[in-house]
Amino acid sequence: MFDSQGPSSPEIHNILSIARSRDEGSAPEVSIVVPCYNEEENLEPLHAEITATMARLGLRYEVIYIDDGSQDRTHERLEEIWERDLAVRVIRFRRNYGQTAALSAGFRYARADVVVTMDADLQNDPADIPKLLAKLDEGYDLVSGWREKREDRLFTRKVPSWLANWVIRKIIDVPIHDFGCTLKAYRRGVFDGIRLYGEMHRFIPALASFLGIRMAEIPVHHRPRVHGSSSYGLGRTPRVILDLVNVKFFVHYFARPSHIFARLGFHLLWPCALLSAAGFALMATGALEVPYWASALVLVLGILIFGQFLVAGLLGEIVMRAYHESQERPVYVVERVLNGGERKGAGEENRARRPAELRAGAGGP
Ligand code: UDP
Ligand code: MG
Repeated sequence: MFDSQGPSSPEIHNILSIARSRDEGSAPEVSIVVPCYNEEENLEPLHAEITATMARLGLRYEVIYIDDGSQDRTHERLEEIWERDLAVRVIRFRRNYGQTAALSAGFRYARADVVVTMDADLQNDPADIPKLLAKLDEGYDLVSGWREKREDRLFTRKVPSWLANWVIRKIIDVPIHDFGCTLKAYRRGVFDGIRLYGEMHRFIPALASFLGIRMAEIPVHHRPRVHGSSSYGLGRTPRVILDLVNVKFFVHYFARPSHIFARLGFHLLWPCALLSAAGFALMATGALEVPYWASALVLVLGILIFGQFLVAGLLGEIVMRAYHESQERPVYVVERVLNGGERKGAGEENRARRPAELRAGAGGP
């Protein structure tokens, strides 16, 4: 458990304060976001556990299930749950976009200013939700679960995860033990402030650290997967490494891409310069016959490479600016959104609104 540095960026501080002072009305106080991919057998027991926990807490809440293009009967199960429980909303993706996109959609559609994310496979325990919320109430903006006793296979899951967490911790410099745990609680300022691409849900604490938020990590219960199978194996390692490079770049060189390129170029230049100088020295002392032109060529090569990196850095600056100033676009296409008004028995007036909501679905709630 730790405190990261407190709010440092004035921008995020403003977002957080606005979020906290919004008119509450009948909007939920907590949105629970659950990405689901082929989880047909887990959804009923999971929903029962979430409902029991939330009933004990006595908070207004909604559960947003994101069906990430499942091929089994996940959507039918979700529709049944949605039919009978007014607290449920369902988002169905047209195809499988991945857990990151599903979480990102959950954040976009969440109506509460506090979001709890969790897996659908019963590996996370809904009974931990009150602990996360209590910690958030202590003044944190992001509370991350730590699966201290992880119930997964040792060599294919636990060992790679320990290694990955160690590498990520070192490279990104955020002291979290378990980046991969989906069970987390966020304030709006955090989930509104980060953009997720690729497989970046693992790096949410790293991306959020950029916002200068207060972050805590608490141990949570982890259970073995009983129904269905894990979507991930060792095959994801190269993608995680590439995303790690991306995140490092975005978190640490986000506003100054030319600096990292210049550094890389310099680290290629100095060995060339050293090699060239050694060549000249050997020739001058007569120790070895190294032609002058060869030494000069190595030096010229180093300078050219350095120049190339400087130019790439400038291009990076242009791209970064275009990126930040361009329109925000979601990373998914929504096929269908099940909101409260469209339930059986709801008035025609509500049903008539559906196409408009669907249109809005492609770009957000
Ligand atoms: N998941 C998803 N889309 C995917 C893969 C997984 O929404 O393409 C969901 C899955 O249903 C589960 C969570 O993400 O709720 C974590 O997936 P999984 O249990 O396979 O990962 P593991 O726990 O083995 O890391
Ligand atoms: Mg799992």
